[in-house]
Amino acid sequence: MKAVFDQRQRLHDPQFRLQDGKVVVNPDRPARVDELLKGVAKAGLDLTAATDHGIAPLAAVHTPRYLDYLRSIHARRSAEVAGLAEVVPGRIAPARNVFYSDDTEAQIGFHNTDTSCPISAHSWDAIYWSAQTALTGADLILAGERAAYALSRPSGHHAYREISGGFCFLNNAGIAAQYLLAHGHRPAVLDIDVHHGNGTQDIFYDRDDVLTVSLHVDPAGFYPFYSGGAQECGAERGVGCNLNLPLKRGAGEADYLSALKRALGRIGAFGASVVVVALGLDAHEGDPFQGLKVTTAGFSRIAQAVAGLGLPVLNVQEGGYMQPELGHNLASYLSGLQGV
Ligand code: ZN
Repeated sequence: MKAVFDQRQRLHDPQFRLQDGKVVVNPDRPARVDELLKGVAKAGLDLTAATDHGIAPLAAVHTPRYLDYLRSIHARRSAEVAGLAEVVPGRIAPARNVFYSDDTEAQIGFHNTDTSCPISAHSWDAIYWSAQTALTGADLILAGERAAYALSRPSGHHAYREISGGFCFLNNAGIAAQYLLAHGHRPAVLDIDVHHGNGTQDIFYDRDDVLTVSLHVDPAGFYPFYSGGAQECGAERGVGCNLNLPLKRGAGEADYLSALKRALGRIGAFGASVVVVALGLDAHEGDPFQGLKVTTAGFSRIAQAVAGLGLPVLNVQEGGYMQPELGHNLASYLSGLQGV
């Protein structure tokens, strides 16, 4: 199995987010990359460089004005605000069925749901190459590999078509799934991050050509709060093509594996030809977000269960934050997947 990576993803270095009125350290540290690379090395995967697919596969999922915004907002806002380090919203649009303004402050509030997605001078490079990393992983699957790992950072699964949130800008797993669809596959996205994959769900919610399945902590009391309930099953043609499996906060591995079995059953019934795993490692018992209690060895069991589908598996990195076991959790997962 190969791992895809691009060094430019380190360039996104968000300095803070707001929590309970306090400025706190943004948990998406560039140092996460080093821990994840240790996990890749431990699992014995060869690293390969991401290749440039251009903007078209990104525009197949995101709107042109959003891509323009991400690419240009730091420079445009810096021309108006002296010494601007990071673009961070001071206001959030209460609704988005409104006119779209050329004003930079209006656009910042339009395209964000929270303060977790600061954009600095080099963030776009990291965001762009994070998506290209996922696309390069998809190429490996199209070339006949049974599994591949894309070390994508920043993460993607909280990104909507044109809204950033939860440390996510472009929906890397969604972009990869759309790309695999365009190349003749029938993709299922399996999101095992501790947080609901709200952006991915929204992107494919009214469609029947991509299945979205997410295991996560019950959003009634956990980020992203406003979606992820079991009753959300898709709309229009997509009814039955979205499955949410919320778990009680603090649930252990047995509950997790039992929900995973249901998820895999749905993927089998959908007739998927490829699985895109939105690979969050923050369901681990030691993750700072303290949502679930999956053990390090448990990530191997999760991977083995996914491998049991007998389908090619593209793994796209999502969450999982700084803690001693982060790299070990990735190594455990990737080792469990070897031999797919
Ligand atoms: Zn997460």
